[in-house]
This record gives sequence, C-alpha cells and structure tokens, in this order.
Amino acid sequence: MTNLVPRRPATAGSLIPLLLLLFSGAALANIPTAEIRLADGFDFPVGKPDGANYYRFRGFIRGDHMGEDWNGLAGGNNDLGKPVYAVAHGVVVYSKDYRSNWGNVIILRHAYRDKGTIRYVDSLYGHLNERQVTLGTQVTRGQKIGTIGTNHGMYVAHLHFEIRKNINIALKHRDYAMDFSNYHRPAQFIAERRVLMPEFSRQRVPVDCFGMGVKNVYEGPRLASLPVLPFGQPPPRPPINPVLREILARNGLYELAPQSEGDKAASEERNKILNQWRTWRRQEMERDVNNDPVEPKQ
Ligand SMILES: [Zn+2]
Repeated sequence: MTNLVPRRPATAGSLIPLLLLLFSGAALANIPTAEIRLADGFDFPVGKPDGANYYRFRGFIRGDHMGEDWNGLAGGNNDLGKPVYAVAHGVVVYSKDYRSNWGNVIILRHAYRDKGTIRYVDSLYGHLNERQVTLGTQVTRGQKIGTIGTNHGMYVAHLHFEIRKNINIALKHRDYAMDFSNYHRPAQFIAERRVLMPEFSRQRVPVDCFGMGVKNVYEGPRLASLPVLPFGQPPPRPPINPVLREILARNGLYELAPQSEGDKAASEERNKILNQWRTWRRQEMERDVNNDPVEPKQ
C-alpha cells in the first residue's frame, strides 16, 4: 500500500526542523570535556608555594573587586615577568588576550572533594605578561602557566587573581551577583585547603563553555556612558570626546590620530577626567585589604 503514495522530494520547509534538531543535538554532544585529577591541595599563585615575597595590595571587595591583586614585596615593576603558577591540578578553560582592562587572562577549572562532595572552582589569572598554556591543557599544582604583567602597560605589574565557585562567569562579572554566592575570597580559600586527601579518581568537567558574552568588562566611573559599537563597523570620526577616543583606541576600536591645535581644550578636559580616574583608582587601592569581608563557612 505504501507504494501508492508518491515519494516527493523533501522541501526546504520540511528539512529546516530536521536540520535544527540535528544541529542542536550535535552542538550539545560537542561541548568539549576533559577528565581532570582531583586537587590534592591548593597553593598560592605566586611565590610558590606559600606566597613568599608577595603581598595582597588590594583585596576582595564585594560588589567591586572580585579577586585579589598580588604584588612583589620589592614594589614597582620588579615582579614583571615573574612566574605565575597553577594553584591546583586542573585544566585550562580560557587562555586569551581579552584586551580591555583585563589583558592576557588564563582561567583554570579544578575539582576537589569537600566533606565527601565533589565541588568545582575556576581560578583566574589576569593582566599576564605571557600565557604559557592553551585551552584544554592539563595542569598540575605548582606548574608555571604564565608570568606577571602590566596589561600592556595599563597598570604597575601585578597579578589579578580570583577563585569562583560559579564556573560560568568567564569575564562577564556583572551578569552574576558579585558576592560570596559566586566567588570565594581567594587567599582564605587557599589557606583553608592547602592539603587535601590525594585521590586517584578523575572527574569529567566541561571545557570552554563560556559563550561569547563581552558585556560589562570595564571598571571605573564614567565608562558606563560608552556607546555600543558593533564590531567590524568603524567608530565615528571626530568630533568625538577625546576620553572616549582614548578608551576606544586602548581597546583596538579606534586609531589615535595626531591632535590638532583645536584639540588643546579637549586635551585639558581629557587630562582632568583621567586624573579623576587615577585618583579613584588610588583611593580604591588604599582601602585596607585587611578589612575585606571574611567569607562565611559553608
Ligand atoms: Zn584586581
């Protein structure tokens, strides 16, 4: 009987749902994963393994600074190019030059046992001078993964370091509550887990599942007024706020042109705003890091 029904060529209309189904299934199946060793303890990311000769010059500030800035005791740029180490066994889930206020960033994913339960954390290393591991690289505790940098000259050399209990954050801080629901206080987290029971079991974790979000990566006042520029489209030519132009240039979206005589007043305005910004940064850094809120016990 089925022979009586003439076979018709599939039309685009009937193929599209099928293709969508196949594509979404394939996409799900293709999320890369890796089997990683459970952490047998956590070390400090600089001054291996105890943070010797380094100090936190800026701490965890809820809603503001979601990690710690680590600096060499020698001060200035003396720590430029000094090694940064994996705090525990894990796998690289991000290794890119994100530019903006971040520069070279590495994110590692770790699994560890906590009172019988397997938990996951991501550790983030920012403003690096060099990245020596790539996406998917397995790392062991104490392995050198990069070096301390300045974010292309934007800051005095230091390591910006975070530990996240939410492993979906990537560089989209403002998409998630900026508090202890998503983050650990890094030095406290490490100090409480220096030695964990070694285990031979491995844990399968997703790798690089962050998506493409690039929202809200700027720090500091006044930057919220930045216009949204679609990538690949040239930014508007002058007249343009010189501060905006500098920020766009810093992010590779605008080519700085030599300033004309007419730019002089604008240049003074720019310096005024930049000085306000520098003052704000200095005040931030002068907060007593010892007054960080202490993370409550789980
Ligand atoms: Zn920082």
